[in-house]
Amino acid sequence: MSFGRVIDVDCQCGAPLFRYYKSSHGRLIKVFLENIRKDFVGITNTPPQAPVCTACGKEIGVIQLVGGRLALKLNQGTVKSVRL
Ligand SMILES: [Zn+2]
Repeated sequence: MSFGRVIDVDCQCGAPLFRYYKSSHGRLIKVFLENIRKDFVGITNTPPQAPVCTACGKEIGVIQLVGGRLALKLNQGTVKSVRL
């Protein structure tokens, strides 16, 4: 049986960033763009090298290729830790 749940990820400033389908246990380090269910700040638009929170302007993380898939490596200082 596979683990999977939808979580909300917020910025430290309180603004919602995205809703994500997380398929594994553990801390959220990187997110695959294809698993973002709701994108509040335009992460999946165009190729933003460093998407930012639209409310406070802080960098959310950097986009990189992980195993041939686009993933956002989260900036742990900007993203509010998510309870799992
Ligand atoms: Zn923010």
